Amino acid sequence: MNIILLGPPGAGKGTQAAYLVDGRGMVQLSTGDMLRAAVAAGTPVGLQAKAIMAAGELVSDAIVTGILSERLDQDDVRRGFILDGYPRTPAQAAALEALLAEKGMHLDYVIVLAVDEEALVDRISGRFSCAKCGAGYHDRYKLPVRAGVCDVCGSTEFKRRPDDNAETVRTRLAEYRAKTAPILPFYEAKGLVRTVDGMAPIEDVKREIAAILDS
Ligand code: ADP
Ligand code: ADP
Ligand code: ZN
Repeated sequence: MNIILLGPPGAGKGTQAAYLVDGRGMVQLSTGDMLRAAVAAGTPVGLQAKAIMAAGELVSDAIVTGILSERLDQDDVRRGFILDGYPRTPAQAAALEALLAEKGMHLDYVIVLAVDEEALVDRISGRFSCAKCGAGYHDRYKLPVRAGVCDVCGSTEFKRRPDDNAETVRTRLAEYRAKTAPILPFYEAKGLVRTVDGMAPIEDVKREIAAILDS
């Protein structure tokens, strides 16, 4: 099963993808994570992407599609993948069609996490993650079971993303509205879209997505 998780920054895509990785052995393909890894490693892609990401704007379609294409050539994606943060523009949606056709793959669902914009700044400003394993948390909505200790790996070091600040979030939301939301009709016309209430508690969203995938 191959799916896209679609929704604005802070909608819960990464959180839900992690459950699908744990529960179903699917592979999470987060272009944001891939770009952050490139920035951290100082690769040519990372050098080009760094300032754009810090400003909350979108990295070029060519760069992002390039890294996704390479990732889709790795064998593990045959277990089923979750696209998290891609496609983000109509051009990326078209590029994805071509990539999937070329690689003999298809999409089963586009799961849209519907959320109120007012909630997103709050979600993103409270977001943090484990510095060692990347597990995601929130200051109020998803704290580690033992304060200061990662549930997954036991690390006591956490980090916050430099682009998770109120001003940058506004730009990221504007980018979503202008460039990403317009790809929805394309997938609706294909009958792939399933909309989930992303304002519900994390466990409820998880259950709703499971019901779709098991239907
Ligand atoms: P995205 O990958 O879509 O940008 P995340 O999964 O990183 O979003 O979620 C953003 C923040 O909101 C995280 O801190 C996460 O713990 C929290 N979060 C995710 N889903 C929910 C939810 N349904 N209710 C409350 N908080 C949530
Ligand atoms: P979020 O879901 O919280 O917005 P991501 O981790 O998906 O965050 O993306 C972080 C940043 O990485 C984006 O603001 C953008 O600069 C860049 N990025 C990630 N995926 C893409 C993509 N598919 N196209 C263009 N830019 C991307
Ligand atoms: Zn951890």
